[in-house]
Amino acid sequence: MPSALSTPDPDTGFTLDAALLEQRKASSARRLHTVQIPAVRAAGFAVLCALALVQGVSSGGVFPPPEAARLVTINLLYALAAWLLLRYGYRPNARVDLSLLLFHVDVFVWLLNLHHLEQKNLFFAYFLLVRVVDQAGFGFRRALYFGHLVTLVYLGYSVWVSMTEPARALWSDRVGIAVIIYLLALYFAISGLVTERLRNRTRQAMRAARAAVVGLEQKAQALEAQAVELDLARRQAEQASLAKSQFLAVTSHEIRTPMNGILGAAELLINSPLTPEQQRYVRTSHRSATALLGLIDDVLDLSRIEAGKLALNPKSVDLRALVTEAVDLIEITARDKPITLSCKVEKRLPRRVLADPTRLRQLLVNLMHNAVKFTDHGSVGLEVTIRAETAEALGLRFSVRDTGIGIAPDDLASIFDAFTQVDGTSTRRHGGSGLGLAIVKELTDLMGGRLQVESRVGVGSHFWIDLTLEKAADEAPVAEPAPAEDDEDVSVSVLLAEDDPVNQIVVLEMLKMLGCEVDVVDDGEAACRSAALARYDIVFMDCHMPVMDGYEATRRIRAEEQPAGARSVIVALTADSLASDRDRCMQVGMDDFLTKPVSTSQLSATIERWTGRRTNPATQW
Ligand code: ADP
Repeated sequence: MPSALSTPDPDTGFTLDAALLEQRKASSARRLHTVQIPAVRAAGFAVLCALALVQGVSSGGVFPPPEAARLVTINLLYALAAWLLLRYGYRPNARVDLSLLLFHVDVFVWLLNLHHLEQKNLFFAYFLLVRVVDQAGFGFRRALYFGHLVTLVYLGYSVWVSMTEPARALWSDRVGIAVIIYLLALYFAISGLVTERLRNRTRQAMRAARAAVVGLEQKAQALEAQAVELDLARRQAEQASLAKSQFLAVTSHEIRTPMNGILGAAELLINSPLTPEQQRYVRTSHRSATALLGLIDDVLDLSRIEAGKLALNPKSVDLRALVTEAVDLIEITARDKPITLSCKVEKRLPRRVLADPTRLRQLLVNLMHNAVKFTDHGSVGLEVTIRAETAEALGLRFSVRDTGIGIAPDDLASIFDAFTQVDGTSTRRHGGSGLGLAIVKELTDLMGGRLQVESRVGVGSHFWIDLTLEKAADEAPVAEPAPAEDDEDVSVSVLLAEDDPVNQIVVLEMLKMLGCEVDVVDDGEAACRSAALARYDIVFMDCHMPVMDGYEATRRIRAEEQPAGARSVIVALTADSLASDRDRCMQVGMDDFLTKPVSTSQLSATIERWTGRRTNPATQW
């Protein structure tokens, strides 16, 4: 198994790879037996040859002496034969170990040399120890074995000499030499033992290292597998989240359309002559539908933020106006409670900052809405202060304080989680979904700000947002299409392009109630035709319609308009509520964007903004 951790040079580099090590071991054993040992053997016999020749020289006579010449020939031929035998006959796991066999034969060839050399000196016998020393490298047992072998062979040789040449018997010397050979052989064998121990230790270390590497590899593989699984799970989660967001976007669109009918019809009913009891019922249904709509918006917002789909749309904003607007919105809710609502903005606050007005307003309204909801009497106040200022930016603090029920310290950490309410009992006094603060928190994070809270049960709560906003230059007022006529008595002419019959009736009735003159068409194509025939002060254009949608219809109306001529005001009236939907409307040439469900007051405000004419809001809303 190739190691993932080390990719060494197959011949030399360090490795713990078992297969590679085995391969290397085999090839180095082959080199040892077929090259190194024959070379050492040849060197040994060459030394013997040299000794034989030297001895011949020192004893005078012809050179080379014939016996020495014979020995040299035998030695060299033997060394050559041994090398060839090993070179071509060596097999690593053969039944007969050729290398070992030749070590035995060596001893007898050495004896042949000894027989010649010891004529001068018996101590040449010690040369036989060379074979024991050789074997020490193979370990203790082999060295010990060769120690015994060499001693016995020498003694056997001595017996043979004493029998064949009694004059050279010299038994006392030979026995002494044999004992010394034996003792030295023992010593060499023991030194082999030390070598063997060291080698074993190295082997053990290698084995342990190999086991560690294998363990690490397995762990790495397990981690890799885990990473793949996690990646898969992450992708599945992302897909699920995307599916959830798409589902919510579609659902919310589908819910908004009938909600427009419900809210609009309820609004129309409220403004019709009703008995007080009927009034109460209609108001209840209107309130419930509004709450439902708020919930849909919250769920959609949160899912969009979580999916990273909510993009801020910063623009130059009149901060004072925005704050006042937020307080005005809350005033309607606070009206029924004995609460004083206050709003304080630091005097030196520059007029314009760069911010997403919709989202900033949403933050303030959510916090104040909670403050009013959880305060039965006392006060709720919004304060905007400057904490830091540079030439380009402002460090602002938006504080919302109330004198309400407060929040227990243990609950403070969890109130920013989605669907969390401190009072989760079924007998809850205050309505809500538990999404408001989660949205405030996420939005604040998205804006790079910080949301904090401090609260005391029974005393009140203080929520504040620290936000850094860029300063913006005072803008020239946006060039709005000039009102067709300044005469406020002349009613506003409206073209309503809407395919849904219920919404048609509801918006038509609302517009009529506002005193507008309204033409209604069912699709974009009809809208284009009507716009070509008559000039309307304002066109309310649904985006999704059969035959031709509102986007295409707007494009065509714009294409028909002369550059210097009058320009129709076209306002989208759609159930799509995403910022991208608004952008698309603006891109095709619409002037404004109203999301369903739409209220009479929104219609009225839009008409007034774009035509400069006050409608006749005979409505109580
Ligand atoms: P909800 O829709 O329930 O208001 P929020 O996320 O806005 O959901 O708030 C979560 C919970 O935090 C609330 O249910 C309430 O228990 C607590 N809370 C939030 N604002 C206040 C406040 N101003 N005073 C007391 N409790 C608050």
